[in-house]
Amino acid sequence: MLTVGIVSLGCPKNQSDSEVLIGHMLEAGMTLTADPREADAVVVNTCSFILDARKESLDAISEMAKEAKRRRKSAKPLKIVVAGCMPQRYGEKIREMIPQADAFIGIDELEKISPLIEKLCGNAGKPLAKDGRVPVAVSKRPRYIPDYSTPRARLTLPHIANVKIAEGCNHGCAFCAIPGIRGKHRSRAIADIVAEVKTLVQVNGVKEINLISQDTTYFGMDTWQKTKVGKTTKVSSEEGESLAVLLRALNRIRGDFWIRVFYTHPAHWSDELISVFAKCKKVVPYIDIPLQHISDNMLAAMKRETDGKYIRDLITKIRKGIPGAVIRSTFIVGFPGETKEDFEELSAFLGEEKFDRVGVFQYSKEENTRAALMPDQVAPAEKVRRWNATMVQLQKISRERMRSRVGEKIRVLVDEPGIARSAGDGFDVDGLVFVPKSLPVGEFAEVTVTGYKAYDLIAK
Ligand code: SF4
Repeated sequence: MLTVGIVSLGCPKNQSDSEVLIGHMLEAGMTLTADPREADAVVVNTCSFILDARKESLDAISEMAKEAKRRRKSAKPLKIVVAGCMPQRYGEKIREMIPQADAFIGIDELEKISPLIEKLCGNAGKPLAKDGRVPVAVSKRPRYIPDYSTPRARLTLPHIANVKIAEGCNHGCAFCAIPGIRGKHRSRAIADIVAEVKTLVQVNGVKEINLISQDTTYFGMDTWQKTKVGKTTKVSSEEGESLAVLLRALNRIRGDFWIRVFYTHPAHWSDELISVFAKCKKVVPYIDIPLQHISDNMLAAMKRETDGKYIRDLITKIRKGIPGAVIRSTFIVGFPGETKEDFEELSAFLGEEKFDRVGVFQYSKEENTRAALMPDQVAPAEKVRRWNATMVQLQKISRERMRSRVGEKIRVLVDEPGIARSAGDGFDVDGLVFVPKSLPVGEFAEVTVTGYKAYDLIAK
C-alpha cells in the first residue's frame, strides 16, 4: 500500500483540483500523510499566476527534493510529481526548469494521478523514460472539468465547501496568463451542481458553499453560443443556463446555509443578477468584483471590456439593488502606461467609493501576455510607491468602516473556538469576527459588535 502526501498551492480553484487529486489517490487505496518522511510520493500542485506564486511553488518542490535526496539510496525513495498550473504553462520546458521532479501532469491529467504514482513507485511496471521519469503529460487545450461523480476529499473546514462551477476563461485581460493555462471557459450543468450542493448541505452538514471559477458571472454563457449571443455581455435566464438561474436553483435547497459567490466579472453583471442577489436569502450580499482600475485609458489597455462610467453606474446599481451589499474588489497599480493622472483617478475613486474590502497588486510582467510587450512599463520603484500610497489610504478607510460597525447586530459562522466570520467575510481572504469561545464551531450565531481592530471585528 502506497503512502502519499500533497502540497496544495495557490487559490481555492487550485485547492479544488487538489481535492480531486486526493480523492483519486484515496479511491486507489493509497494512504495520505502530512509528513513527507513517511511518503512514497508527494504531489506538489503548483500555481503559476504571477512570479511570486511560481517562486512559492519552486520553494515547495525544493523542500521535497531535499527529502528525496536524503532517501535516494534507501529502500523507500521519495518520488515527486509536479501537477497543475506550472506544467500546464510550460509544457516540455518544465523538465529543465524542475530537474528534481520525477513526473509532471497538467490540468487534464488529474484523474490519472493514481496509475502514475503506482508506475513511479514500481507497483505497475517500469517507468517509461530511461532516466526513471515519465514524460510530461500536458494537453495543449485543457478541457477537463470535474463533476459531482468525481472522487474528492475536501481540504476546507468541515462546514465550508468550495464548489467549482466552471473552469477556464474566455476573456483576454492583457495582464493575465490564465486563459492560456486553464483553457476556454466550460461550465458544469446546473443539475449536477445542485446535486453536489444538496449532498454537501443535507448529508455533510456544510454551512457555507463558495461558488468558484475564473469568472463566475460567465457561468452558462459558453453553452449559449448556438443562440448567437456572440460577444454580448447580457446575462438573461431566457438565454439558457446562467449564474442567475443557478443561484435560484441553489437557493431552493432545503437547509440553513450560506451561498457565497466569488470572482464575478463586472462586464457580466445584469439587473437580473442584482435582483437574484437581493431576493435569494441564502445568497449572501457579498459582491466579489475585481475591477482592476477606473481610468478609461487603463481599462482599455487592460482589455477589461468595461469603462469608468460603466463601473461607476454598476456600483451604484448594486448598492441600490442589494440591501447590505459588501463590496470586495481588487486593483492593479503600475500597469504599463499608467500615468500620474490615471493613478490619481484611481485614488480618488477609492476615496469616494470606500469599498468594504480592497486588494491592491503591483503589476507583474508575465510572459505570453499582451501587457508584457507594452511600452511604458512603470519603474519598479514607482510601482512600490503607488502601492504604498494606496495601502495607507485603504487602511484609513478600513478603520473608519470598522468603527462605524460598533453596535451592529450581525449573523456569524463560527470557524474555530473564538473565531467567526460575518456574511461579508470570505474565508481566508477577508476579516474575522472575534466571538466568545463558548459559541459552537461550525454553527451560525447572532452577535453584537463591541469593538474592532484594523480589519477585524470584536463581538459578544
Ligand atoms: S477575467 Fe481576466 S483576469 Fe480573470 S482569469 Fe480571465 S483573463 Fe484572467
